[in-house]
Amino acid sequence: MFDTAIAGSLPKPAWLAETGKLWPQWLGEGQALAQAKLDATLLWIKAQEDAGLDVIGDGEQSRQHFVHGFLERVDGIDFAHKVEMGIRGDRYKAMVPQVVAPLRLRGRVHAVEARFLRAHTKRRIKFTLPGPMTIVDTVADRCYGDRVQMAMAFAELLNQEALALQADGVDVIQFDEPAFNVYLDEAATWGVQALERAAQGLSCKTAVHICYGYGIQANIDWKQSLGQEWRQYERVFPALAASRIDQVSLECIHSHVPPELMALLQGKEVMVGVIDVASDAIETPEEVADTIGRALQFVPRERLIACTNCGLAPMGRAVAEAKLQALAAGAALARERYAQA
Ligand code: ZN
Repeated sequence: MFDTAIAGSLPKPAWLAETGKLWPQWLGEGQALAQAKLDATLLWIKAQEDAGLDVIGDGEQSRQHFVHGFLERVDGIDFAHKVEMGIRGDRYKAMVPQVVAPLRLRGRVHAVEARFLRAHTKRRIKFTLPGPMTIVDTVADRCYGDRVQMAMAFAELLNQEALALQADGVDVIQFDEPAFNVYLDEAATWGVQALERAAQGLSCKTAVHICYGYGIQANIDWKQSLGQEWRQYERVFPALAASRIDQVSLECIHSHVPPELMALLQGKEVMVGVIDVASDAIETPEEVADTIGRALQFVPRERLIACTNCGLAPMGRAVAEAKLQALAAGAALARERYAQA
């Protein structure tokens, strides 16, 4: 009851990359950088285990950014000539690579870090990939001329890598789709179709993470414009409930998402965000257990997984460590509290 897991990313140590940034520059290069990424992965595996989490991730220590880490291994993408583009409904500007030719994988993308993760923990492991719609929203298209067609092309490549990750021993493969909260009608139609294409043929657990973004200022401002009730999930949850995806990760604590929207995820495992990534304040176990209690009104307890609202990448390392501990301690308290419920 109440497994614990993080959404995906964790801060990179100051000796690996710039801190406090969404697109940090690596400090080293070549073999030294490759080794440093794995060293950082190892320390976060240990920190997650020490905190007492049930499902362990690599903290995305080997990728600069959750979308571009995948794209770096895709042929047809010009990384040398990035262009500035408004992303997530023009909420903020980012330097994005351009799609200039038909897409093809150059080989494995995440084999090294996935096998490293598998070798260094006996617990279940989760690996994250960007979802097709969110990738489409984070590149400049100079080739396909059609978002749906390009999303399906990316979905095929994601599927190749996901099947290989499963063979590496990954227990949960999660696709990150923050774009689902922006392009609501498209998410419910071709967004979920592309997601299912990416997950096709997988027998491990499959998950989708849908959030209101990292705790950066542009997202905090955007959330303040969304009013008292955030009903974005209402549009896509029915389509996800009808899909073959096993788990859905959503924001809960300190959000204005009406908890009853979770009832739309009939039959799914629900990763409830009980840790706020937009505040450095460390949640108490009571706050975490209270949030789980609110979700329990709408999610059966055997299907509730306690999770973070989003990734912790831009946060301070000590804050992130304390939040991992709060997550585990809060879930433990909830197990005591709601054992008989
Ligand atoms: Zn997120």
